Amino acid sequence: MSENFPRPAPRPAGYLPAAWSNRPTVGLRQHTRLPHRFPRRLAGRGLAIGIDIGGTKVAAGVVDAQGTVLDERRRQTPGSEPRAVEATILELVRELSTDHRVASVGIGAAGWMDLSASTVLFSPHLAWRNEPLRANLEKLLRRRVVLANDADAAGWAEWRFGAGKGQSRLVCITLGTGIGGAMVMDGRLERGRFGVAGEFGHQIIMPQGHRCECGNRGCWEQYASGNALGREARELALANSPVAQELLRAVGGNAAAITGAVVTELAQAGDAASRELVEDVGDWLGLGLANLAAALDPGKFVVGGGLCEAGDLLLLPARRSFARNLTGRGFRPAAEISMAALGPRAGMIGAADLSRITGRVLAKGS
Ligand SMILES: [Zn+2]
Repeated sequence: MSENFPRPAPRPAGYLPAAWSNRPTVGLRQHTRLPHRFPRRLAGRGLAIGIDIGGTKVAAGVVDAQGTVLDERRRQTPGSEPRAVEATILELVRELSTDHRVASVGIGAAGWMDLSASTVLFSPHLAWRNEPLRANLEKLLRRRVVLANDADAAGWAEWRFGAGKGQSRLVCITLGTGIGGAMVMDGRLERGRFGVAGEFGHQIIMPQGHRCECGNRGCWEQYASGNALGREARELALANSPVAQELLRAVGGNAAAITGAVVTELAQAGDAASRELVEDVGDWLGLGLANLAAALDPGKFVVGGGLCEAGDLLLLPARRSFARNLTGRGFRPAAEISMAALGPRAGMIGAADLSRITGRVLAKGS
């Protein structure tokens, strides 16, 4: 009977408890029914929880050392009050820890974290102002915690496991309601002197242009983001232009209900006006990337976020505009521009991975 099943490969002495390694081979069930303590430790090797805190939802996942999400939970963001957000994090970690042995927790959120990944200096959606979130959470969770800006977490994930793998100088752009930015240089997340680098969305690209919530006018994210796409489409619809017919039909005639997502969907369905609007955003995207190439000279730009649903409708004009606006074009190698590979889970995966890796570096250093 035992001849029908392959025997496990011999393991070095001491690798398995004697009682287990001497068990007769009985097929697959042997591997699913493991003795109590040892397998839990083995199964837990390299697992971390990544939590992505957005303005509307909190997503948490158990992520292994290869960047695979093994388990996932979601909650509505419980308002902006810091204690309520901490309670939600605690609940999610408790739930996920019942089935998985997890050593560390990474938190990704919009905002600025200090260089030691301990304090949230400022968060636009949540009421965190100089909040010692890491210390608070480590006390609650009794695990190592690392904080990361959401765009940094997503960029790190793309460099480790996605479209930016193997790049020595990588710039990642997340196109959502605004623009998030991250840089991985020589295998390190580049966060600037004070931890707040990568705010590419607020480079002023049109002096005296559209007002930005950051307080300035003419920021890049007012021209190359989901919000910008929605605003331009609404303006077109409100001008009673006949080319906006399809757009208005899609929202039952209510121009105010047109969003970037609506335009993207119509563009994919072939609506000419929506395609033009996406193309305009692509033009602005390429122009901003050319500015970044002038300053940073990366080998690759990885572009992710909700707006990337538009695919080549966005990327082709962006590449054209990039090539047209790149300084020294024709006399220099040009960076590649690619779609992100990991989708909306990138922030969760990156936050988890940063908590695992940062923890290891801290452990080595101490
Ligand atoms: Zn701005």
